[in-house]
Amino acid sequence: MSYQIPPHEIFIPEQRIKEIVKKLGKQITTDYAGKKLLIIGVLKGSFVFLADLIREINLPLSVEFIGLSSYQGVKSTGNIIQTHDLKYNISGRDVLIVEDIIDTGNTLEYLLNVFQKQNPASLKVCSMFTKPAAHQKPYHIDYIGTKLPNKFIVGYGLDLDGLYRNLSDVVVLT
Ligand code: IMP
Ligand code: MG
Repeated sequence: MSYQIPPHEIFIPEQRIKEIVKKLGKQITTDYAGKKLLIIGVLKGSFVFLADLIREINLPLSVEFIGLSSYQGVKSTGNIIQTHDLKYNISGRDVLIVEDIIDTGNTLEYLLNVFQKQNPASLKVCSMFTKPAAHQKPYHIDYIGTKLPNKFIVGYGLDLDGLYRNLSDVVVLT
């Protein structure tokens, strides 16, 4: 990226991200062999990761989106607003939720609640990033790209007040 961004440190370079996504896609392909996957992306943060991940999954799959928002600046408000509804019945489907990052875990808990009620055949979670030290409870995450310390990151779909989603590296603004 050649436009000016504030002082920052590259935390996870693009090349490493690509390796991680490839590995996740391989694992998911193996685990869901013979099945038709329904991937549900959580907007907005997951769209870059999701676009890369589905091209590493060698299975028939479809994609739907749900939109949720809980952050203001660098802080979670704990208050989840649904910005885009899932216009699809997931009953009987093999559902994989795709998230950018599990931070407090509030969003994950909300999602599992909503989706479990609709009786999917199976329900699993794939998150590119997780910050275990920020989790409010121990959470089970089926597929994790990589664990991170409790720092606020941007890039690869993750934003600060709407900006920096287009960075190919994951960076920490310093
Ligand atoms: P939660 O606290 O686990 O509910 O996280 C909710 C959402 O906050 C995530 O899906 C992200 O979209 C956003 N978020 C959490 N941590 C970060 C971060 O370090 N950078 C950018 N967005 C974040
Ligand atoms: Mg998110």
